[in-house]
Amino acid sequence: MTQANVLIDSQGRVLRDLRVSLTDRCNFRCLYCLPETEAAQNFYRGHWAHMPDSAPLVQQWVPKSNLLTFEEIERVVLLAVRWGIQKIRLTGGEPLLRHGVEDLVARIAGIPGITDLAMTSNGFLFLQKAQALRQAGLSRISFSLDSLDRENFRKITGRDGLAEVLDGIQLAQQLGFHPVKINVVVIRGLNDHELEALTDFARQHNLSLRFIEFMPLDAARAWLKEMVVPGREVIQRLQTRFDLRPVASDNPSATAKRWAFPDGRGEIGIIAPVSEPFCGHCNRIRLTADGKIRTCLFSVTEHDLRSHLRGGAGDEALGQWLKEVVWQKEERHHIGEPDFVPPTRSMSCIGG
Ligand code: SAM
Ligand code: SF4
Repeated sequence: MTQANVLIDSQGRVLRDLRVSLTDRCNFRCLYCLPETEAAQNFYRGHWAHMPDSAPLVQQWVPKSNLLTFEEIERVVLLAVRWGIQKIRLTGGEPLLRHGVEDLVARIAGIPGITDLAMTSNGFLFLQKAQALRQAGLSRISFSLDSLDRENFRKITGRDGLAEVLDGIQLAQQLGFHPVKINVVVIRGLNDHELEALTDFARQHNLSLRFIEFMPLDAARAWLKEMVVPGREVIQRLQTRFDLRPVASDNPSATAKRWAFPDGRGEIGIIAPVSEPFCGHCNRIRLTADGKIRTCLFSVTEHDLRSHLRGGAGDEALGQWLKEVVWQKEERHHIGEPDFVPPTRSMSCIGG
């Protein structure tokens, strides 16, 4: 494939990774994403005396007619793969809420040129969907699991669902999903006391754990930098308890810095977009559930692909449009700088 038929931005970054959001809706109300629960408000007000009263706390969902159909999503993925995209991650919102999600997985799994098809899920509905997803060709799954304590899990997610998620993780391993990853968003004063317990859990079950810094993408705009536990602090603390060794990476676009244990059981990854940004090697774009292309998690502009799709544009025109959009990919994010403007839509709409 020549430079002429890849998606490349003005910084010379070649795009290989497309994250596809299947819905903006969710059956959880995570405190760092959709903080609509009383527990979330108490946390922000109590701990940090900060919860903008004017913030729209209740999410306005995208009208269903604006959600891309499976045919439309398949068409975009086909086109993107023709233009050099190799990795597809299905996300949301909660992707398992999308009726017939396994049919979409089967359609995408059959597209030649995709080297990696994965999904990120909160895991609550996974038990019901696992077999069908595996049969449809899904090979990798990441679960969000921010606490191993039932009460804390409920406080963080707004749902008493720890048992379902733990069972889902176990089933994923039994069905041969590999690797099974666990995403933990670490928030000071909320779940940072569980770092060691979560690491023990990863070792016990031979899981890849990803500790992620809290980003200013919550719907209530309650994020404060004081709530972020820097990745370096996480690893330094874990090193006092565990023998962790850095894993060399041959992928400059990887988001996680990885750490392994001497016996090879379990793995830790640190994703530190706030304290150690990795924008220089970012090769990701996002397709929102309502058909907007986002060239950065923190984009303040979205590009309306849906109108082109539904307006009858041919593949050649769509490809050229995508090429021009990708060229405009933001150089980097500006978190922590005076000119930082958070995106108007939150993580559940953007597709994490
Ligand atoms: N509902 C699914 C889930 O929770 O796994 C998929 C969508 S969720 C938006 C994707 C990932 O984004 C999850 O791992 C979640 O923990 C992470 N996330 C959500 N809000 C975040 C925030 N403000 N900062 C960092 N990560 C966040
Ligand atoms: Fe839902 Fe995932 Fe957001 Fe939690 S992080 S509210 S599970 S979309």
